[in-house]
Amino acid sequence: MKCDICNCEKNYIKDHKHNYNVKGKKISFVMPRRFCKNCNNLVYDSKLDNSASLKALEIYNKMSNLEEDKII
Ligand SMILES: [Zn+2]
Repeated sequence: MKCDICNCEKNYIKDHKHNYNVKGKKISFVMPRRFCKNCNNLVYDSKLDNSASLKALEIYNKMSNLEEDKII
């Protein structure tokens, strides 16, 4: 997959810290993502991007469940 910014085809995978804000909840986790070797831009990788999205969802669901437990 080519980099959007410099069109470089060389890239590498490294752990990336994700910070999301979902409906006012702060979600933060580390997952591997693909980066451009030339400019360090995040490069699209369907597999890695998908697992990062799933992880965010999983954490969000866990947080929601914890809050429901507190109310009960
Ligand atoms: Zn690049």
